[in-house]
Amino acid sequence: MTNEINLLKKCPICAEEVKSDALKCKYCAHWFSVKSVLRRYPGLPLLILFLLVYYVFFEVIIKQDLALNIKQFDPKVSGVIVEKHELMQKHPIINIIGKIANTGSDSWSGIRVDAILYDKNGKTIDILQGYISGRLSPGETRDFAIKSSSCQKNTEPVAFHSYKIVVQNALSEVY
Ligand SMILES: [Zn+2]
Repeated sequence: MTNEINLLKKCPICAEEVKSDALKCKYCAHWFSVKSVLRRYPGLPLLILFLLVYYVFFEVIIKQDLALNIKQFDPKVSGVIVEKHELMQKHPIINIIGKIANTGSDSWSGIRVDAILYDKNGKTIDILQGYISGRLSPGETRDFAIKSSSCQKNTEPVAFHSYKIVVQNALSEVY
């Protein structure tokens, strides 16, 4: 009887008596110590180490590397230039067509080309936006068309004296 009592221990969680060499409580599934968990699952430290290395490698190193590759578009240094443009139509809608070229070393997508309209005093009176779909890789050219909205309520054509085509913005393309 005394012997049997010595072989038992009390679970600190559910207060039930279990065998003294038990790793885990059979009543409430409580693990008695970290050591007992390790005795049951000897591969656990290796698995944790592997997950840690995986996390550091992919989450920190790879993602940081990708973040460094994302460049801010700067019209002056991007090398995306307006090769030519032509005013096709002025009334009742404005229609300008042209071609841009990527003379730089980065790929860009979502390129926005604006037509800035000026009055005869050089004052900006309107900006028309044009978007170029797809990726423009280094060395490529692409046609664009910028039109004033034909469904504007104000059907009065914008009377402009001159205009300028500007590559306004683009998104960095990461391989
Ligand atoms: Zn228990």
